[in-house]
Amino acid sequence: MKKITLLVLSLLLGIFAIAQVTQKPVIGISSTWGEGTSASVPVTYIESVIKAGGVPMVLPISHDPAILECMLERIDGLIMTGGEDIDPLKWFGEEPIPALGRVVPERDSFDIALIRLAVEKKIPVLGICRGHQLMNVAFGGTLYQDIPSQVKGSNIKHRQSAPSNYGTHTINILEGSVLHKQTGKTTLVVNSFHHQAVKDIAPGFIATAHSLDGVIEAIEKKGSDRVFGVQFHPEGFTSTNNEVFLGVFKDLVKKSRAYRESKH
Ligand code: MN
Repeated sequence: MKKITLLVLSLLLGIFAIAQVTQKPVIGISSTWGEGTSASVPVTYIESVIKAGGVPMVLPISHDPAILECMLERIDGLIMTGGEDIDPLKWFGEEPIPALGRVVPERDSFDIALIRLAVEKKIPVLGICRGHQLMNVAFGGTLYQDIPSQVKGSNIKHRQSAPSNYGTHTINILEGSVLHKQTGKTTLVVNSFHHQAVKDIAPGFIATAHSLDGVIEAIEKKGSDRVFGVQFHPEGFTSTNNEVFLGVFKDLVKKSRAYRESKH
């Protein structure tokens, strides 16, 4: 009798534990091609999602629209990650300048399709670095292909040599913006690992943070609190349990949970 009670109890506990996990929103994380034949994403994004209370799901590049559709059905939130430069000719009609970096055409096509469909489905989206620039390009904006050669008067080092969990330059954040609500700050020292930046902002989007040389460091979709991008790398601070930067991921997870509940 005792054994049966214990068995029932442990079964119930097991079901409860699974229910707790399945209630967590699934956050898709975009990836790139790695060395050799691998698909690749820095683990800092994965750890950030877990620490913020979500379930990370890495999304490999795929050319099959049906696969893409299935991915979107299974995620409740999306992180467009950092990485390579975006092809300026194909995606915003500019000839490439000599300082343009490595471009991965398959990743560009997949990422653009992914973010456009996610936004159409009202899935919360966080763009980081390349992901933030891609968000702007996907909805009609343009980029500086290279800050040192194209942004006149910029005297700030946007490609820091310091570790990623160490902030090196200041940004001013628009009061009332998504980033302000996530961090509780109107001024913040961020890390910086980019040589491209948002130039003409996409219609329907606004810039919500700038570095002191005027470079756009955050954007969000007007009239929506669930589509936002940051030029810096909040995931770089996650290993130090920095609550200010973790706030960006917690907010994404919170909005993704609300999206998930609205589906059921
Ligand atoms: Mn910067």
